[in-house]
Amino acid sequence: MALVVEKISDRYLLHALDRFWHNSCLKCHCCNRLLADLGTSCFSKGGYILCKKDYSRWFYDL
Ligand SMILES: [Zn+2]
Repeated sequence: MALVVEKISDRYLLHALDRFWHNSCLKCHCCNRLLADLGTSCFSKGGYILCKKDYSRWFYDL
């Protein structure tokens, strides 16, 4: 995985799993799409970051 070095002061950060993420770094574990592109919501389950769609799928699959 590439080390991300960016100025963060002017970037929107998402808070998930008790840490902050660049919106350009936060991807859905399942579909690997940028959550920033999918909307404002992100979800976490079992330590994985998921978009709303995949979260719903996991939730109902369990
Ligand atoms: Zn997804």
